[in-house]
Amino acid sequence: MTTLYEHSTLASLMAGNFDGTITLKELLTHGSYGLGTFTGLDGEVIILNNEVYQATSSGKVNHITDMSTKLPFASVHFPDNLQELNSENVDFNYVNKKLVEEKKLQNVFAAIQLKGAFSFLHTRIAPKQEKPYPSLLEVAQKQPEFNYENISGTIIGYYAPAIFGSVTASGWHLHFISDDRQIAGHVLDFKAEKLSGNLEIFDNLMQHFPVNDLDFRDSHVDLASVKEGIEKSEGANH
Ligand SMILES: [Zn+2]
Repeated sequence: MTTLYEHSTLASLMAGNFDGTITLKELLTHGSYGLGTFTGLDGEVIILNNEVYQATSSGKVNHITDMSTKLPFASVHFPDNLQELNSENVDFNYVNKKLVEEKKLQNVFAAIQLKGAFSFLHTRIAPKQEKPYPSLLEVAQKQPEFNYENISGTIIGYYAPAIFGSVTASGWHLHFISDDRQIAGHVLDFKAEKLSGNLEIFDNLMQHFPVNDLDFRDSHVDLASVKEGIEKSEGANH
């Protein structure tokens, strides 16, 4: 059995619940690779082999070793049952369309990890918010974006079927970190001549809720706007 562990939901983030509700210490008991964000929507988190990195909106990358640091939203897994992936002339469009078709991902949760030299990379990094928190959509409208050329690194992230959009980001949610760990972010677009890595399909989704968090318990999710909001804030390639 392969399991994707998700802490809280994207809909909860959409509602502005940006206070951390799980510690890194606990999160890492559920997976050694993954992504998420910190309290206040403070940057983009990428976890590789239990090492936790935070891309901040200034563009700086921090290596986070304080295991009491909290996250309001995260997805993690332990690699298992990996299928090798070698892709040439790959870009976000390929991952979004062809890879999903070829590997029949449209109804499953999956993870990819792809490493290599990227000829082009477009990222965004959520800026830290202060209370009272705005909605994720408001944050998304003014978040720094970055473009890079010829950068070596790793992309990791998750695919979720469309029917789970609002629980999490439907389609791909990908984060990048450079080999020298100086550059990272939420991936909006990329291009590479050759990438290698792996794909994992999960047969189990563990959805964990921050039930002791009163903001979460009290919040109201506006379902009418949540879909548009998630597309604008978490969607890739827009
Ligand atoms: Zn992200």
